[in-house]
Amino acid sequence: MISAQFDYVRANTLDEALTLLAQNEDAKILAGGHSLIPAMKLRLAQPPLLVDIGRLKDLSYIREEGDQIRIGAMTTHYQIESSDLLKKICPLLPECAGHIGDVQVRNKGTIGGSVAHSDPAGDWPAAIIALNAEMIAASQNGERAIKADDFFVELMTTALEPGEILREVRIAKPAGRTGQAYVKMHHPASGFAVVGVAASLTIDGDGKCQNASIGITGVSSKAYRAATVEVALTGRALDEQALADAASHAADGVDINGDLFASEDYRRHLAEVYTKRAIQAAASRVK
Ligand SMILES: Cc1cc2nc3c(=O)[nH]c(=O)nc-3n(C[C@H](O)[C@H](O)[C@H](O)COP(=O)(O)OP(=O)(O)OC[C@H]3O[C@@H](n4cnc5c(N)ncnc54)[C@H](O)[C@@H]3O)c2cc1C
Repeated sequence: MISAQFDYVRANTLDEALTLLAQNEDAKILAGGHSLIPAMKLRLAQPPLLVDIGRLKDLSYIREEGDQIRIGAMTTHYQIESSDLLKKICPLLPECAGHIGDVQVRNKGTIGGSVAHSDPAGDWPAAIIALNAEMIAASQNGERAIKADDFFVELMTTALEPGEILREVRIAKPAGRTGQAYVKMHHPASGFAVVGVAASLTIDGDGKCQNASIGITGVSSKAYRAATVEVALTGRALDEQALADAASHAADGVDINGDLFASEDYRRHLAEVYTKRAIQAAASRVK
């Protein structure tokens, strides 16, 4: 299909983009375009103005700063997938990126666009939650940090306010004996997550789980923290029984999506199976 008519401006600076957003309430940011353009072609989105931030190179970076990792919103999935720095200090990020779409999608799609889009089957939100990331939102009034747990509000709805642009994603560098993993059941047609589970585990000197952080996508209308799973793991040795017990809580308290491909019961089952796999994989990677 062909999109509705719209105006287009390419921003040369972040300030210019913020000014255009402030002046045009219904304008939309165009990043990689790999979610917005399909939505416009289906007329699910009909923004009167697109503000293209695709040329803002200073929003594209991966940096280690003190005890933090900082990733610019325009950093592509491929840049994250192929980052040697991230492979070393936070391997969950490249692993998650590698599961997204195909090479073309990963070359154009951005972490900022994915996180701001909050697709219920998108991969990044699960990792963002498991890593307790902070989203830095910029507007004409300055900047604010939004915690992962507060960021994903509802189906394709985030805590970003009108006039705000997601500028950066910040993640605390994993400390201690930590292992991470992202596992996913790909939808055979779209490649999106039927279920995707990100896990980050820290193990203490006795081999017990000191801290568990689990984010799940694909199961519900938005990605969520599997808080009951985290509680069930904390303080326990990660034997087969502990893993099975914990994973059985993967969809606790969640309204599960059912569709032609995966019924509610099947998705619940997948959530449990993939949560167990993510915990097992993360535990096996603890150094
Ligand atoms: C064939 C195909 C397969 C795909 N498979 C997967 C998959 O397996 N897993 C997956 O997770 N994704 C998948 N995607 C989606 C892909 O990852 C997109 O790139 C991503 O969801 C959006 O990023 P983008 O940079 O393209 O954003 P855009 O499409 O440009 O924007 C998406 C939305 O976010 C807003 N936005 C963008 N950047 C910002 C910002 N910095 N601040 C505020 N708002 C912003 C836009 O206004 C728009 O509403 C697929 C896409 C395609 C076309």
